[in-house]
Amino acid sequence: MITDTQTLLKNAHRKYALGSYNIANLEQFMGLFKGCTESQAPFLLALTDLALYYSHPKLLESMIRGMEEIFPDAVFAVHHDHGNEESCKRCIQSGFFSSVMIDASKEDFETNIAITQRVVRAAHEKGISVEAELGQVGGNEDTIEVKESEAKLTDPDKAAEFVERTGVDFLACAIGTSHGAFKFSGPTNLHFDLLSSIQEKIPNTPLVLHGASSIPADEVQRITATGGKLQGARGVDPSLFIPAASRGIAKINIATDSRLIWTRVHREYFQEHPESVDFRVPGANFTQEYARFVAEKNHHLGSAGMAKAFS
Ligand SMILES: [Zn+2]
Repeated sequence: MITDTQTLLKNAHRKYALGSYNIANLEQFMGLFKGCTESQAPFLLALTDLALYYSHPKLLESMIRGMEEIFPDAVFAVHHDHGNEESCKRCIQSGFFSSVMIDASKEDFETNIAITQRVVRAAHEKGISVEAELGQVGGNEDTIEVKESEAKLTDPDKAAEFVERTGVDFLACAIGTSHGAFKFSGPTNLHFDLLSSIQEKIPNTPLVLHGASSIPADEVQRITATGGKLQGARGVDPSLFIPAASRGIAKINIATDSRLIWTRVHREYFQEHPESVDFRVPGANFTQEYARFVAEKNHHLGSAGMAKAFS
């Protein structure tokens, strides 16, 4: 069942966090729907511009329709992740997205507000909800590149002013995570005191955590053992998700973990089978492993079992 982002987030807010899974290919589609159906978790299917044009928006749209038929119990909404003003407006017009994220976080405060206001106006006319970002999550992913020195934590007073002036539906805040595989040089450090202050200022606005992949040490070690170079990659401890959800984080974005599983499965398979040219074998392995990962992640997020509320 395709539903809307706003409904899913309202249901989750302060109880659990929805997994927002970035995907781009067939095997991820299959694994995501399988994992979320098996764990009975509502979820967001997130598409960046790079993901949309890795193949074609029309192809992805028909794949999503197909998944809905194959997995009738799946409860999900389609979200455009990290858009600019132009791509958000394109997704709003397409009639296929339930929500868009306008990421003008690298702009100054007033420019971020002006751009976000324009996207909110266009989206709300079509009944589509909007996420924006205030503060700046560091790291690299798709078209985003923010140096550690440029990353900025979210100011709670500015967050309240931002939400008030833009009418944005949910807000991505920077509380210590970063995009990509190389997140932390020391122990994981989410600023829960800051998150609580933001939530106190905007108690009715669901908050969003970006850059929250866990980068399991075991995956990094196996990728390294087969020739990868990811030494030093670190992520967010999944035991922090529920405490974050109780402080207003209702959507947690997961992208890098999926890429790690893909990389490890393919590296190991072709190393063990140097004579093979059959991509379908590691592809099917990846689908299974990604499904298992997604189901486990949904348990960490507290969203497992919550799809029942929508049936
Ligand atoms: Zn992000």
